[in-house]
Amino acid sequence: MNTLTLQDVSYKYDGTTRTIFKDVNLQFEAGKVYTIVGKSGAGKSTLLSLLSGLDTATSGSLTYNGENLATMNRSQYRAKKAGIIFQSLNLLPTATAIDNIILSMNISGVKGSRKNKKVMALELLEKVGISPEKANRKILKLSGGEQQRIGIARALAHNPELIVADEPTGSLDKDTEAKILKIFKSLAHNEGKCVIIVTHSKKVTTIADEILGLEKGVFKQLNKSHMPVDRETNKPASKQGTQVTTQKARRAAGKQPGR
Ligand code: ADP
Repeated sequence: MNTLTLQDVSYKYDGTTRTIFKDVNLQFEAGKVYTIVGKSGAGKSTLLSLLSGLDTATSGSLTYNGENLATMNRSQYRAKKAGIIFQSLNLLPTATAIDNIILSMNISGVKGSRKNKKVMALELLEKVGISPEKANRKILKLSGGEQQRIGIARALAHNPELIVADEPTGSLDKDTEAKILKIFKSLAHNEGKCVIIVTHSKKVTTIADEILGLEKGVFKQLNKSHMPVDRETNKPASKQGTQVTTQKARRAAGKQPGR
């Protein structure tokens, strides 16, 4: 089973004094949806940068199926294994939605003719609610919500094992959000992918198998029925943490690192 493991991970931005997280031990497994919640500035996006191989830990290790991200070819990891949905989507504004997806397939080395890739791109876009007419429009002629859906389709274009998303439904209406959440849930539960989502939305956490709250550099496993985050206030309202994941706490609990 594919797993992404953090062992004693600490992180500090170069030239700063604040430790964003310290001695974090977490394990993300295939077949599950994880949501990460916490106040703005807590370090959620920083964690996603590490998980997606865009940055490396200051100390400790991140391994994917036992292979250390710090020493592996991280562009290959991003191109083949991980599907990344960030808030800044970096879609090519003057290219069509289809061409953005085909370009991403080409970068990831997806095999097949342009015709086949176009069919695949249209199917993916349809899945996230983008009609063939809109699929043929340039990105700059589409709304923010439509661009967000195209960003999701693009992240799935190479059939990644791991999906890492930062507020993926932030600019979507309720119906579209529900549709996208259904896709994420199915990717994990039916296709065995590992889906990790940073969110402020209570709705998003309803599909989570595990909710991790990040506060003051510490991750706590939160109880779903006490989901603390509110989209409006952006404040965790509860301290229902059941599991502190620093190594110190693990030692105190007599647990092995990693889980
Ligand atoms: P969140 O996603 O939870 O809102 P971030 O991970 O974006 O939080 O940021 C965590 C902290 O790191 C914040 O205090 C932020 O200002 C700081 N930070 C983010 N990026 C950088 C950077 N490149 N250099 C220095 N500090 C940064």
